[in-house]
Amino acid sequence: MRAAAGAADVAALDAVVPTCRACPRLVEWRELVGIEKRAAFRDETYWARPVPGFGDPRARVLVVGLAPAAHGANRTGRMFTGDRSGDFLFAAMHRTGFASQATSTSRDDGLTLTDVRVTAPVRCAPPANDPTPQERRTCGPFLARELALLRPQVVVVLGAFGWQALLSTLGEQGWAVPRPRPPFAHGTEVVLSHPSIGSLTVLGCFHVSQQNTFTGRLTPEMLDAVLRRARALVGPSG
Ligand code: SF4
Repeated sequence: MRAAAGAADVAALDAVVPTCRACPRLVEWRELVGIEKRAAFRDETYWARPVPGFGDPRARVLVVGLAPAAHGANRTGRMFTGDRSGDFLFAAMHRTGFASQATSTSRDDGLTLTDVRVTAPVRCAPPANDPTPQERRTCGPFLARELALLRPQVVVVLGAFGWQALLSTLGEQGWAVPRPRPPFAHGTEVVLSHPSIGSLTVLGCFHVSQQNTFTGRLTPEMLDAVLRRARALVGPSG
């Protein structure tokens, strides 16, 4: 995808992402959701476009999820914003010193992130949270460019889908990803090396979906521990 490859910096990438219409099924779905809306949000104008990453453009920690939620990020236009998953994530970021406030409700709510950025391998809300393999491949260059521009020292990956997407992208960029690939698990920590960039630590964490947080599979303490580990690896903010 030429638009992604041409982005000179993170701001340019964030500007180009919302213009993408490369996946017909996802374009149709994200816009349909924005027209039909959920009753609770019927007075709002949905973003209904691809969602760029959000956070510190100089972040040393990148948090990678799955894709925007139909009535969350697809409504608000900010990653992980406007649904319970995001509430869980940003509260943890606030507790661990990465976020200026514990809630993220809209693009103009004043939230700032320090030393962390949140993103996803697929930028459009997919039906049933399930992008096709083709859609994942088509969207891949955006994550690839984001990694190349940001050069994070730590990537926290939320869930198995993001784990596979991230390791694929890193492998394509010349990082020495072991074969067979390390499997996803909560608490997994993998250190990768690159001949010219150096090293990068990938931390596995269960996704912040309600399926995990409502059942106690992922507790606030567990997420805090992963974020604190990321903080320990990069050291204090400069
Ligand atoms: S999923 Fe990615 S590649 Fe597909 S339309 Fe959305 S932004 Fe473009």
